[in-house]
Amino acid sequence: MKLHGTMRINDRGHLEIGGCDAVELARQFGTPLYVLDEQLFRKNCREYHQAFTLKYSAEVIYAAKALFNMAVCRLVEEEGLGLDLVSGGELYTARQARFPMARVYFHGNNKSFEELALALEYKVGRIVVDNFYELELLNRLAKERHVRADIILRLTPGIEAHTHEYIKTGQIDSKFGLVIENGQALAAIKKALEMDNINLRGLHCHIGSQIFELESYAHCARVMMGFVAEAYKETGWTAEELDLGGGLGIYYASGDRPPSVQEYADVLVNAVSAAAEELNVPAPRVIVEPGRSICGPAGTTLYTVGAIKDIPGVRKYVAVDGGMGDNPRPALYQARYEACAANKAAQPAAEVVSIAGKCCESGDMLIWDIALPPLEPGDILAVSCTGAYNYTMSMNYNRLPRPAMVLVGGGQADLILARETYADLVSHDRLPARLRKGKLSNVASAR
Ligand SMILES: *Cc1c(COP(=O)(O)O)cnc(C)c1O
Repeated sequence: MKLHGTMRINDRGHLEIGGCDAVELARQFGTPLYVLDEQLFRKNCREYHQAFTLKYSAEVIYAAKALFNMAVCRLVEEEGLGLDLVSGGELYTARQARFPMARVYFHGNNKSFEELALALEYKVGRIVVDNFYELELLNRLAKERHVRADIILRLTPGIEAHTHEYIKTGQIDSKFGLVIENGQALAAIKKALEMDNINLRGLHCHIGSQIFELESYAHCARVMMGFVAEAYKETGWTAEELDLGGGLGIYYASGDRPPSVQEYADVLVNAVSAAAEELNVPAPRVIVEPGRSICGPAGTTLYTVGAIKDIPGVRKYVAVDGGMGDNPRPALYQARYEACAANKAAQPAAEVVSIAGKCCESGDMLIWDIALPPLEPGDILAVSCTGAYNYTMSMNYNRLPRPAMVLVGGGQADLILARETYADLVSHDRLPARLRKGKLSNVASAR
């Protein structure tokens, strides 16, 4: 397993993260356990801040959907980034963590009436409008409140998956955004410009996630700038800002070679300014929305090894006490991960095994065919790069409680997310009177 951030192997031969012995963390907080490396999370934020903001005055908005809770929200604020939020729940969380709402971009392809009202009440910096219905609705809500909503329009640049199969959100046949090619994007601009309670500030697009090909970004930037110039010619409106979304890929397992954040920034910003010059329009301020590349490598999940099943001549399964409930990515998209035995981190690999989760699904496999030291029940397995789209996509399938999360740094570990309990699992159940039996009737109504 590649060591990330503050990871090292200590004198006891154990994996250490943020100065904390991973085996101790597992004992103190239990497993499965999400461990977040504070120093690495902050370093990744700073890298973006330097590469985009200090070098180009571009803005960096952290995409909360990759990893979010109140503590993460505080880290993002302290590092000076903005937030890309997509739901009332995320808005509420940011509010509870006292995040400055002027630095929030509010996304979503089907924002509800209540969510838009909440965004206006909180006075978020921008609402990223996805469709005509939302544009009308927002204009009406803003009028009722005697405010003008600052918006940008989400567009689909019509970029097909020609470089990487995960570039999936920028194509014309997409549930996201307004299509440039068929004139809907231009019609939306004209409509927004006529509205009394809408202030159109710029345009947005997002071509997908886990992208390694920087040329895809340059291509997207050129397409968007071409449209900025067309819109200017047709309406006289100039885009103040151009939000090019997120999606920079990260290292998960051997073979992954992501570009650096600085290379990404250089390619993106230069493509925008070159196009602006060529098309003779003012260069808009660039905005990016990284999620995975900030939080992904900063997360590690600790599990305890349980049943080991050797099927001679076939495969050896090593089962852990978590799986698709806390990390659905392998089951969802055949995602690959690396791992090490945290309590045997200095020992050489001796056999190839496959790591299974504990859910009632054959697809609940975390890692196929990984070389590890000989494992026994009770060993602690550490899976790296689980910071993004693990906790935020976690579920209670099989009524497994969600894990706890600790923030580690400088030898200190702080609980930032409590482990769910069995009581939490039944706390939203309700038993109608006719189904109650004896004392059971008090269980569901206890909370
Ligand atoms: C998911 C998403 C992001 C973040 O993507 P990452 O791959 O995590 O960087 C940014 N913007 C939008 C609109 C998204 O949907």
